Amino acid sequence: MKNCLLLLACVMIIGTTYSQKISTPLELSGFKTLTSHQQMINYIKSLPRDKSPFLTEDFAVSATGMKIPVLKFSTGEFGNDEKKLKVLLFAQQHGNEPSGKEGVLMLLSKFASGELSHLLQKLDLAIIPMMNPDGNNSDKRRNGNGADLNRDHLILLQPENQGLHKFFNKYLFEVSMDVHEYGPFSRDWMELGYRKNSNVTAGILTNINTPQAIRTYSRTKYFPWLTAQMKKSGYSFSEYTPGGPPEIEYIRQSTFDINDGRQSIGSLGALSFIQEGMNGRDSIDNIEVRAKVK
Ligand SMILES: [Zn+2]
Repeated sequence: MKNCLLLLACVMIIGTTYSQKISTPLELSGFKTLTSHQQMINYIKSLPRDKSPFLTEDFAVSATGMKIPVLKFSTGEFGNDEKKLKVLLFAQQHGNEPSGKEGVLMLLSKFASGELSHLLQKLDLAIIPMMNPDGNNSDKRRNGNGADLNRDHLILLQPENQGLHKFFNKYLFEVSMDVHEYGPFSRDWMELGYRKNSNVTAGILTNINTPQAIRTYSRTKYFPWLTAQMKKSGYSFSEYTPGGPPEIEYIRQSTFDINDGRQSIGSLGALSFIQEGMNGRDSIDNIEVRAKVK
């Protein structure tokens, strides 16, 4: 009898653990195959909603006609509780930078399993795993119109960005993060014996048309906190610093253009960031680490 009870307890523990682990398409492939647009749609449909309630909405249709979903997590009516911070997270504007999407799908698993449900006491959280399904499915930077989505946030010519900004304006999010990857293996750097080597880099608002108070807060409060968190995590981290190798070009403290996702949304009053993780030699190279670090 005692053994039976022990066995039953073991089965319950294993069963509980098993039911809590929700694998993404990338994890199910053994980190061998990147998640396609259709796989992502099927995966989102399969997520349980009891522990972290969410609604989905197709906020845009891509240049080639693919629906682009956003998941709106809230324990109440999304966007209607003034005590909660409204946060927007969007990934993969550039199709050949897939680890943001893969990391975000892992994040969705954690919400669905209840691991992160406590955050919804303080946040209403909107998550867009894949801004550019055309680029995702063709492993290209640009969308089906050949446009760079992250240079289109001012004139909004592309349907993906028209949908994003309409969605943003509906809720006026207070915090926003745009997730990308940078290339560590460019030839001009390698020829001079350099390579960029941070697992994660992050950039804050830098354009002068964004609110000074938010820029100052980001620099003096957010960045020290983020740097400490990344040190604890064991991943290498630095501020997002684009530019050429030292002998040829200067290294800039971030980019400044108002037409990218981070700055344009920042100009609308949000505490807005960009994250640039390290890309690989190709889109699948080292994807397990690249996705998990997100
Ligand atoms: Zn990018």
